[in-house]
Amino acid sequence: MTDLERLVKARELLRDVTPLKHDCGRLCGAACCADPQDGELLGMELFPGEKALYAPQSAWYKLYPAHGSCVLVCTQECPRGERPLACRIFPLVPYVKKGRMLVRVDPCSAPVCPLFAQGKRALDPAFVTAVTQAMTLLWESPVMRDYIQGLTEQIDALTQTL
Ligand code: SF4
Ligand code: SF4
Repeated sequence: MTDLERLVKARELLRDVTPLKHDCGRLCGAACCADPQDGELLGMELFPGEKALYAPQSAWYKLYPAHGSCVLVCTQECPRGERPLACRIFPLVPYVKKGRMLVRVDPCSAPVCPLFAQGKRALDPAFVTAVTQAMTLLWESPVMRDYIQGLTEQIDALTQTL
């Protein structure tokens, strides 16, 4: 399986599941899609190679290079079926501990997501399982492992400053 095929499969696993059984966006006005400062729609860093799934130009996003990868910045609400993988797994994130990959609540979600304080156990188990399956699939790829290791280092740096 190629990395692109892994990405497509991971995105597919997360096409319909959401953090809660009902629409959690109603809790918070879809806070993870907007900048808390100015309310502007935000974007997300794409996983390695995910850029290939997006056209260079679109009415609802712009693509920007960032730290050797690519960030998709929304200019309007996305068609849900096209949202990036990072949006599909939020507020969870893959994390490396003692050489093993696990899925945890992303500390970066703390300022915006009301689910952060309740932790992983408050989330729909079907969502947690789907995120774990998707990230386990990516973890088979050396490129994705490097990327997840980088995410882990970013999280560690952030949590040390809290
Ligand atoms: S901020 Fe949290 S609760 Fe709100 S839509 Fe995003 S994931 Fe759901
Ligand atoms: S791609 Fe969609 S889900 Fe992700 S931040 Fe933009 S509007 Fe929100």
